[in-house]
Amino acid sequence: MTNVAPKGPQSLQVLLVDDNPIQLSLLRHLFQRHGHLTIEARNGAEALILLATEYPDVVVSDCVMPLLDGYQFCRLVKDDRATRHLPVLLLTAQGTGLARFWAKTCGADRFLVKGRDLDHVVEVAAALAAQSARPRTAHAVPKLAQENFGVDAIQHRLAQALEQRLIETALRDSVARLYTADHDTPRLIQGFIEILQELILPGALLVAYLGEEGLWCKGVHGSSASPEDLLELEQAVAKQGLFQAAPSCQWHPASDDDERRRTLRDPILRVFPATTPGYPVVGSLAFVTERRSAEDYERLFEIAAEELGRLLSLEDSRLRIYHQAIRDPLTGLFNRKHILDMLGMELDQCGRFGQGLSVMLVDLDHFKAVNDRFGHAVGDQVLSVLAQRMVFGLRKVDQLGRIGGEEFLAYCPQTDLEGVRAMAERLRESVAVDPIPGLPANDRVTLSIGLATWEAGDDSIERMLSRADKALYRAKAEGRNRVVG
Ligand code: GH3
Ligand code: MG
Ligand code: MG
Repeated sequence: MTNVAPKGPQSLQVLLVDDNPIQLSLLRHLFQRHGHLTIEARNGAEALILLATEYPDVVVSDCVMPLLDGYQFCRLVKDDRATRHLPVLLLTAQGTGLARFWAKTCGADRFLVKGRDLDHVVEVAAALAAQSARPRTAHAVPKLAQENFGVDAIQHRLAQALEQRLIETALRDSVARLYTADHDTPRLIQGFIEILQELILPGALLVAYLGEEGLWCKGVHGSSASPEDLLELEQAVAKQGLFQAAPSCQWHPASDDDERRRTLRDPILRVFPATTPGYPVVGSLAFVTERRSAEDYERLFEIAAEELGRLLSLEDSRLRIYHQAIRDPLTGLFNRKHILDMLGMELDQCGRFGQGLSVMLVDLDHFKAVNDRFGHAVGDQVLSVLAQRMVFGLRKVDQLGRIGGEEFLAYCPQTDLEGVRAMAERLRESVAVDPIPGLPANDRVTLSIGLATWEAGDDSIERMLSRADKALYRAKAEGRNRVVG
């Protein structure tokens, strides 16, 4: 260890690690010339041992060294909470290939190529130290300093760090695989919970997210989680304020090897927002479990929450795109293509199982006049109000779409002509009677409706739709505001 020149306000303490004495003295010379203090180690193992007692501002390390190389050293520094924020600058011999790959994956903050970039090494190291979020007071004690450190301890720590990294990678990979295998949000969440449930047993875990149909909440619990624990979890997620309504969770028991019911030892409750950079928070991951296992798996839960954020935001984007592809933006109803596709599928079922199916073709009467009198914006508003009324007038199994400007198509499964006529009549009447917001109190918009029902031999939707179209034409010809079919 060499200390030269008193440490001034701009002066840094730099840990230099290199097995080549000439290289080491070159670096020492460079840093000291700029008024910095240096401490030195000849390989990663020596450097780690130094870090148990010294708190440098930045590390500049060679890569290829005996005992513990620069990548492994860096991995251990970044793996330890006490040293994670210490900036590490690696000096590689080549600027490409595996050297570059390892330098990136071991968590190094920067790497420079020895032959090419050495002129900047002081400048870059100082910049890293300046950017570092490292707390400068109250240093935590590095893990290694807590152990009887020597080469064995270092190798043990390295093996642990590599195993931890492997588990983290496997966790990320399992979650990412879920997404390539399935596109159904509840099943994705189920898969995610299954991956994580072992970690919290015998406690409980829940995932809440804001889906297309509002708030969803799903959870698993082990043998020892009490009803109060589950309630507390739900409340903790609600308290986070991501969701307007408190989630009411569907709970399932997890298959728990330890099926004895006992009180959770030193339980803790943790809630993680599931976030993805640049995306609003759409979900939450929360668990209650024994403190010991939670501490062991701390980093895994952080990763899981990150992966959940990614999963939910991808799912959210996918649903938005799907929604845009099948819906009409003005009314929110299915668009022409989608309602016709769905009708085609329904018709196939009819052909196979002989169940009834009827359709209504609805056209607004003299709608052009509404636009002419009140303007296009009011016309738009009337269209969306009427669309909502029509949805309201239909059953859950019926489907409605906007197939043209002021034309709508509804289909009603397992419904004969009489059934659909009664529904159409009710619809027509409610629209004709109830005032419409946006229009003068006495103004009404009326509907003409053409009906058709499935007949054996209708092997495509065209024939049935053509009959409905003719019926609609007659409804118009006979004076409008009526149902024909
Ligand atoms: P009919 O009783 O014969 O159906 O008369 P109509 O005026 O409803 O029929 P026509 O087919 O002549 O005109 C349909 C009108 O619907 C024309 C257009 O101004 C209006 N329209 C179509 N799509 C939209 C829309 O998205 N917004 C608004 N505001 N008006 C629309
Ligand atoms: Mg019309
Ligand atoms: Mg029309």
